[in-house]
Amino acid sequence: TPTVTSHQHTSPHTAPMEQRVDAIQAALDERGFQATQAVEELGHKAQEEWLPRNGARIVAKAWVDAAFRARLLADGRGAVVELGLTMPKHHRHLVALENTPRVHNVICCTLCSCTAFTLIGLPPDWYKDLEYRARIVRQSRTVLREMGLDLPPDVEVRVWDTTADTRYIVIPQQPPHTLGWDEERLASVVTRDSMIGVSRL
Ligand code: FE
Repeated sequence: TPTVTSHQHTSPHTAPMEQRVDAIQAALDERGFQATQAVEELGHKAQEEWLPRNGARIVAKAWVDAAFRARLLADGRGAVVELGLTMPKHHRHLVALENTPRVHNVICCTLCSCTAFTLIGLPPDWYKDLEYRARIVRQSRTVLREMGLDLPPDVEVRVWDTTADTRYIVIPQQPPHTLGWDEERLASVVTRDSMIGVSRL
């Protein structure tokens, strides 16, 4: 009779993650795939180009330009190209979620950590946390309150689960004190968390 050993998915002799990553990288490099160079390039892009300020420009433009906002809501991917912004090919759809006085949108990826990262930046650690991914769906109001956003009971909360090919960006409500500001100044008040939907401005 075979013995059932449960919950032993990795051998006790498995090397630490960093060593395993280095080994894979070295194996790819040896075979001419230039993994080290690719990782360096991705790291550079993540730190220099894929920043929340991209999404902030989208939000600011949506606030001041009603025609752009309409195009953004109809076809997000097409609209952000107008600002010179890009998304990877596999991010086939960008859905812009407009917050209103009655509706608050918040995004997550219940499976892993997907975001429109070229626009709102790489996901923060808490976004990848199993606890956020599970609880934001079932206990949205409580989780938002714990994160400092206490929504009035008459505001409907909508949670959007990111998939491989559909990415989201929340368009927060424009703070009243910023009415009349130019786009650049408006963009400076838009935060990553407000585009994920765990805070308001
Ligand atoms: Fe994911």
